[in-house]
Amino acid sequence: MDSLDAFACEHLERLEARSLRRSLTPTERTGGAFVVRAGRRLVSFSCNDYFGLAHDRRVKAAAVAAVERFGAGAAASRLVTGSHPMAQALEARLAAAKHKPAALLFGSGYLANLSIPPALVADGDLILLDELSHACMLGGAKLSSARQLRFRHNDFAHLRELLVRERPAARRCLIMTERVFSMDGDRAPVGPIRELAQIHDAWLMVDDAHGLGLVDDDVHAPLEMGTLSKGLGSYGGYLAASAPVIELLTSRARGFVYSTGLPPASAAAALAALDVLDAEPWRLTRPLELARRFTSALGLPPAQSAIVPLMVGEAERALRLSADLEAHGLLVVAIRPPTVPAGKARLRFAFSAAHTDADVEHLTVAVAGIAAAVA
Ligand SMILES: *Cc1c(COP(=O)(O)O)cnc(C)c1O
Repeated sequence: MDSLDAFACEHLERLEARSLRRSLTPTERTGGAFVVRAGRRLVSFSCNDYFGLAHDRRVKAAAVAAVERFGAGAAASRLVTGSHPMAQALEARLAAAKHKPAALLFGSGYLANLSIPPALVADGDLILLDELSHACMLGGAKLSSARQLRFRHNDFAHLRELLVRERPAARRCLIMTERVFSMDGDRAPVGPIRELAQIHDAWLMVDDAHGLGLVDDDVHAPLEMGTLSKGLGSYGGYLAASAPVIELLTSRARGFVYSTGLPPASAAAALAALDVLDAEPWRLTRPLELARRFTSALGLPPAQSAIVPLMVGEAERALRLSADLEAHGLLVVAIRPPTVPAGKARLRFAFSAAHTDADVEHLTVAVAGIAAAVA
């Protein structure tokens, strides 16, 4: 065996020994909240299709029509020949939804987060990020070569302490956090953080991948990043911001300049999804309602978003509980390190407007049954 394969095999064994090896399971999403795995139909509580739009007939029809008219791919960077009219229409809609003058699309949310910090800060600058920030935010911060410091999760006082101590020596400062934390489901205090950022002349960027639709939390940061891939049921990422910031990123964000434009069908699907949400606002509130019903029935802290974690500790145990739920016809994936810190493996439940009352009742009964094992 050559050294490359030997390296890969050794590394895989180490992951396996710690229950951290990951593998792919063929899964078809067949509509509603259902998936099919190995011929079995399961109700999924692990999809981020919060508003039940990925299979909506209007969203699918829009994607099909865009393929027919504009083709399957964008064929080049938007700056070259890939800027189809639908991309601009979608940017205008996203900007309006975020109360911003402008927006810019990226190939994915991950790509957006890799591309935004390096376009704004560099050597001599400072990035302060919440310690639970998503992997791609950490990746973007690292690519920027600005100095990075992490503040304790949602700890406003710690952020202030770091700003007071570290901000003066830095030329520019970027603060990064998530509106709703992807693996914990809790929310950042965006309003107070925004005020603090203003006082210290720091630029606040909020990742809203999971926050869309939380209508009681409409505090907007100067940099509002989001994704088309979750609640909107499509694929892609975006940043909404002021016109000069969007102009600057159009020239400087490497993941925009050097990457092929979003496929027209993805843009069309996201546009149609925004139309459906305008016409059917109940979809926006239903996931949180269902999540609250679930947390209340199980005596868990009230859900703050569509995401509810059930902490189980060790990775191996999380895998076992997930398998138990699968035997009940429920898909609830175990979340393990390094997605979450060591010793904090969990089951993560994501609620969707596609779930019926009966689906949530079934889940609640099944989880109550395994809860003894968790306690
Ligand atoms: C999923 C996710 C992303 C990445 O978005 P994609 O469009 O899936 O690449 C970014 N940030 C957070 C917090 C996420 O959960």
